[in-house]
Amino acid sequence: MFKLVLSNPEKQLKNGFEKCRQMHPKVSINGAIGNYHVIGNENKYNVKLFRDERGQKIAECCCKANENGMFCYHIAAAVLAHTGIMRQRQAA
Ligand SMILES: [Zn+2]
Repeated sequence: MFKLVLSNPEKQLKNGFEKCRQMHPKVSINGAIGNYHVIGNENKYNVKLFRDERGQKIAECCCKANENGMFCYHIAAAVLAHTGIMRQRQAA
């Protein structure tokens, strides 16, 4: 897995969000918040979202696009789900 710094998610994930709208990937929590399973076109991918020691937002996915340093739509899908979960937590 390759660590990608999410410095400007709106811009970096723009294409990913777009693809999510077409693909409707399914996201589920994989044990703990920040770890997600994303199912897109039959395959299951592990996505991790976390902050590193410098406080930077990091995204990892186990797919090929991620190895090439690209922000895939799996990450976009996980970020959408993660944002929703965090909002609910803050509201509770
Ligand atoms: Zn991916």
